[in-house]
Amino acid sequence: MPILEILTYPNPVLRKKATPVTEFGDELKSLVKSMAETMYDAPGVGLAAPQVGVSIRLVVIDVTPKDEDHNLIVLANPEIIESEGEAIEEEGCLSLPELNANVKRAVHIKVKAQDIDGKAIEFAAEDWFARVIQHELDHLDGTLFLDKISVLKRAMYKKKRKKILAEGA
Ligand SMILES: [Zn+2]
Repeated sequence: MPILEILTYPNPVLRKKATPVTEFGDELKSLVKSMAETMYDAPGVGLAAPQVGVSIRLVVIDVTPKDEDHNLIVLANPEIIESEGEAIEEEGCLSLPELNANVKRAVHIKVKAQDIDGKAIEFAAEDWFARVIQHELDHLDGTLFLDKISVLKRAMYKKKRKKILAEGA
């Protein structure tokens, strides 16, 4: 399976609202496989389909510690149906190179989604796992954690990216 190219800010695909997954066949399975490999290769703990240029409501997540076996979680059409608490922690994103910043998120959440076969699933998540889910779900609505950080930090990052892109061109 090929490693996919991860789109970076300000690619416009990252800002689109993704459409629901409706086909749970071989094509989806092969996309999930490629997304998982791309995520492990990066390395990252989560990847949303829009980040690889496919604007559908699909994310892969693996928050297992490095020294343990992979435990891939695939969520199609995920929704947060309950959320509670509030915590601020530092986040990064494969689509926002060289940015780490504090983001406020819920601590306990309940998620409703479909698995890779289209079967309905529902589960609770907390702390870091809940944070990663919230981060990835934001991608499905075109939201980046860049939108949730301080105005100053955001302005500095946009300026820095502009400069890097200008130099690369
Ligand atoms: Zn991200």
